[in-house]
Amino acid sequence: MSEGAALEKKRYECLEDLEIGSAMSKKLRELGLHTVENLAMTTPKELEQAGINKKSAKNLIQKARLCMPLPFIRGDELVKMRQNILRLTTGSNMLDKLLDGGIESQSITEFYGEYGSGKSQICHQLCVNVQLPLEQGGLDGAALYIDTENTFRTERIFQMAKNVGLDPEEAIKNIIFAEAFTSDHQMFLLENADKVIKENKVRLIIVDSLTSHFRSEYIGREMLAERQQKLNKHMHRLIKLARGFNAVAVVTNQVMSKPDVFFGDAIHPVGGHIVAHTSHTRVFLRKSARGPVRIARLVSSPRLPEGEGVFKITERGIENVNENDSEN
Ligand code: ADP
Ligand code: MG
Repeated sequence: MSEGAALEKKRYECLEDLEIGSAMSKKLRELGLHTVENLAMTTPKELEQAGINKKSAKNLIQKARLCMPLPFIRGDELVKMRQNILRLTTGSNMLDKLLDGGIESQSITEFYGEYGSGKSQICHQLCVNVQLPLEQGGLDGAALYIDTENTFRTERIFQMAKNVGLDPEEAIKNIIFAEAFTSDHQMFLLENADKVIKENKVRLIIVDSLTSHFRSEYIGREMLAERQQKLNKHMHRLIKLARGFNAVAVVTNQVMSKPDVFFGDAIHPVGGHIVAHTSHTRVFLRKSARGPVRIARLVSSPRLPEGEGVFKITERGIENVNENDSEN
């Protein structure tokens, strides 16, 4: 029997099941690798940087990979998975239409734009909307909010909940909140979110913002590769959770301007190719000359055309723009 077949017989749930010694398990946990799956998705280089020699690093990862079920899925199973996709309303008809009925579960949707463009307001509104029944565009579930910029406000939740007819005191209980203090801490929170997602029937996972810590901690060209590797891992973890729990995953992202660019877009989302390719749906938000009105542009989607729509931010939350708004 091959080593792979022998290993498959047993269920490998925690690192200790791999029989790599308690000291090594402890070391891996200190690196944020808490499960066999985490280890299987790591690169030898990351382990080497933590003082594990090259050969052991390779062996450990190989062992973990052999224990994981093969990730191949038959096409018809994929169809079944997609049939289960749910859509969450944003509160704006135009934005929902742009997204073909709302934000999809099982993948990552990214909102990017400059400061004040409405990224966090959308996140707040989604935390409320997710609690609505399916027939009202909700997912009848709870929200997990990872806040990296300290901009989550319970007062806003109360206002928005009241507006959609939810009891604010109940609505706030269905939002599980965590503040991430560093990029490592942010990663740690997602690595360990399974239990809290399951126990609380979480159907919406928000990371607001995805990139701020990474951007401020990894400075300069020489740190770029490491930053991108970590971001990649973080986003794949998020995809895994979104698929595993049929949840909507929403991340926000800052923009940077490139003053040396004369043609095309001078404003770019942070995070380069990794974030661009891992976010399935990207929406660019910008302010308009009409006060509370914001413009949303669907920049990329695996199956929808580009397009634009408008919505407004009011005390009640994310709302439709009406005719009177154009006169402001
Ligand atoms: P960012 O894209 O930086 O996350 P936000 O989502 O925090 O931006 O949007 C902030 C904007 O939302 C404010 O500038 C304001 O226009 C609007 N806003 C926030 N709270 C309220 C409120 N209670 N009533 C009306 N508009 C609000
Ligand atoms: Mg914000």
